Amino acid sequence: MQAFSSKLSRRTFLKQNSLAGLGVALASSSVAGLPAIASKSAQVPAILGGPSAWAEVKWPIWPQWNPETDEKLLLEVMRSGIWSRADVVTRFEKEWAAALGVKRCLAVVNGTNALVTAIHQMGIGAGDEVLVPPYTFIASVSSILSNGAMPVFVDIDAETFQIDPAKIEAKITPRTKAILAVHILGLPVDMDRVIAIAKKHKLLVIEDACQAHLAEYDKKKVGSIGDAGCFSFQNSKNLPIGEGGAIVSNNDHFIDLCFSYTNFGNPYGSAVGSVSTGAVMQGTKLRFSEYQAAIGIAQLKRLDAQTTTRNENAEYLKSLIKDISGIVPYKLYDKVTRGAFHLFPFRYQKEGFKGLPREAFLKALRAEGVPCSSGYTPLNTQPYLKDTFDSENYQRMYPKEKLDINRYHAQNKCPVNDQVCNEAVWFTQNMLLGTKDDMKSIASAVEKIHQNAEKIKTLGQK
Ligand SMILES: *Cc1c(COP(=O)(O)O)cnc(C)c1O
Repeated sequence: MQAFSSKLSRRTFLKQNSLAGLGVALASSSVAGLPAIASKSAQVPAILGGPSAWAEVKWPIWPQWNPETDEKLLLEVMRSGIWSRADVVTRFEKEWAAALGVKRCLAVVNGTNALVTAIHQMGIGAGDEVLVPPYTFIASVSSILSNGAMPVFVDIDAETFQIDPAKIEAKITPRTKAILAVHILGLPVDMDRVIAIAKKHKLLVIEDACQAHLAEYDKKKVGSIGDAGCFSFQNSKNLPIGEGGAIVSNNDHFIDLCFSYTNFGNPYGSAVGSVSTGAVMQGTKLRFSEYQAAIGIAQLKRLDAQTTTRNENAEYLKSLIKDISGIVPYKLYDKVTRGAFHLFPFRYQKEGFKGLPREAFLKALRAEGVPCSSGYTPLNTQPYLKDTFDSENYQRMYPKEKLDINRYHAQNKCPVNDQVCNEAVWFTQNMLLGTKDDMKSIASAVEKIHQNAEKIKTLGQK
């Protein structure tokens, strides 16, 4: 076996590998549909000195941009000198609403402030409780806290990574106002059950669809199902504009209120830059700009085809790795008709890999040239909660016992989420824009590590 002890030797090895022209056609034959073994050395994981599964091919870059097709409108905007909110933002809003099959859309600065605004304009504030899963990006929770409301954590379903509908009702109190249904990783929440619970208890449903562009539940686009949906167009998201966000709803009055709030409190329809209309509410300024909208219109043209590719590749990759012991891929609810696959998640159970810890698995996978991450850490136990509860603002708004952090933690335990956070592995959405062969390479890398788990474990112990 090749000695392998430093980064340098790995680089040397990668070079030899690419010179030998091995590249992606390296695989174990034990996974159905994978190419036959190219040579004996191909079975040796990169972390043990073997050739990497991914020596030559590059992952699809993100974000995508084509100067020829994408820059005309952007240049027109730049040359017009009209950069602040005007007709191009309105056009983008119309196009995004149409893509979702929803009546109204308001573009704002980012997904975080789309959530903050939606929660605020639904009249949720001090003393109110909002149900939220702990398996999400921090902005889902901070948007509740920004409004002075209290996040109440509902544990997740380990198989789908989503809020567990069976655990929602136990968390409802007379103070509960809304459910924040987060379609995390771009995989839809079980909306039928969430909506039924919300109806029964007269709760609002806000969808955090910041990772779920064009995902569908029962043929309806997520974000259009609840009382409001929020999206992010941050650079890593499936519809990337650098920064950006949107609130969508079928409720005209609600979107008019959101418009006013994000536009100094001026009434909906009032001209941007006008100082004479008079403010109808206390507002702030969270406006989208014309050149952002021009980028968004260009990106929107490729989103549907990309979403189809992600769905096909996710399903294919899942079929290749699902029978490897220790790998438990995501499940979709029966009524999900399309995913967004902002991420491709599975649970890694080290018992299936001779006890090889997840971190060592990830390291070995990266050595094969497969980027991967361990995902979120639990949001229900992080220090930001105590910091908020200790703030003078919260001390004024809530009775002392509500802000007792130990009591709060005791009431907000989410053991399934804790377990999932310890087991999760993610691949990013751009990897799912590759070819079928790319998916085979990922599966080969996983399989190679699986077969050599014992040796890799020993490496870590030296
Ligand atoms: C990205 C994201 C947000 C926040 O969006 P920004 O545009 O980054 O502010 C909120 N919720 C979820 C689930 C996200 O992934």
